[in-house]
Amino acid sequence: MNDSGSKVLLEVRDLQKYFPIKSGFLIQKTVAQLKAVDGVSFTIDKGHTFGIVGESGCGKTTIGRTIIRLLNPTGGNIFLEGEDIAILKERSLKQYRQKMQIVFQDPTSSLNPRMTVGQTLSEPLLFHGMVRSKKEVEERMSQLLSSVGLKPYHVDRYPHQFSGGQRQRIAIARAICVDPSLIVLDEPTSALDVSVQAQIIKLLKELQGKLNAGYIFISHNLSVVRYISDRVGIMYLGKMVEKGDTNEIFENPMHPYSKALLAATPIPDPKTRRKRKELLSGQVPSPINRPTGCFFRTRCKYAMPACEKEYPQMVRIAQNHSVSCHLYSLGEPEKIVEK
Ligand code: SF4
Repeated sequence: MNDSGSKVLLEVRDLQKYFPIKSGFLIQKTVAQLKAVDGVSFTIDKGHTFGIVGESGCGKTTIGRTIIRLLNPTGGNIFLEGEDIAILKERSLKQYRQKMQIVFQDPTSSLNPRMTVGQTLSEPLLFHGMVRSKKEVEERMSQLLSSVGLKPYHVDRYPHQFSGGQRQRIAIARAICVDPSLIVLDEPTSALDVSVQAQIIKLLKELQGKLNAGYIFISHNLSVVRYISDRVGIMYLGKMVEKGDTNEIFENPMHPYSKALLAATPIPDPKTRRKRKELLSGQVPSPINRPTGCFFRTRCKYAMPACEKEYPQMVRIAQNHSVSCHLYSLGEPEKIVEK
């Protein structure tokens, strides 16, 4: 529970992030907008994880970066512990920067190669005034390194002296060192070997138990998202097309895109055959020139005339399960017959 008595840590309401497309030689004019995030809403409770999945270019990384204000939103609200940080100017944002951290996909490029682990970890601690003496810095660093499975003597080493998994542990230590309440994990295991991925996921779970932080877990690896997330949102071309409790989404996906995406997850049993009817076909349309109506209609085998005319509203179909598809907003899903 926060000060206002609510356990909601983050509420994202109708979030938009557009990138202008410019053209012209001497005088540049905006000729189009790339709507990377277009009206996305979801909430995260304290100590819970919201997984965001979708194909490349669906806007999932942009959501994470916009929520923690690495990018300025075009519209919408981002309530962190009740305060709308979407409208705050840089000076007022400083106190919230400490509460929101990010772990990037590639620890090699996210860590400064000229800084030792000690310098990397002490910089945010000093910037946010969380330590006052050299002794406090040393104590905090030793505590941080042990909490991510590294040793105190690693403090004087440079990133290139570590393996990929160890570098990601340093990046995680940097994210948790300022006691954040929200951490965006942007494909944190994609650049790692499978065995190391499991260790990092286990570490993230353990740390969440200690910190009670909310996670936004962005990934295209559905098995990992299923393991770590309490709730999941599925993105397609800047829109969230389905969201709900993890088990509900994975056991009972309703949106045709979600069904196809989940059906594409590798089956670890060579004897089990995939249902061909659920596989995705066709290319993702250009995000600059999205189809009219439902953006998925060019790839959807259930498409009907209504799908061409207007974008479907997000409708709740169970207590913790919502979907944006005319099959449900127009009613009577039981009458749907597959083509
Ligand atoms: Fe398919 Fe129409 Fe639903 Fe879009 S709204 S997913 S085109 S059935």
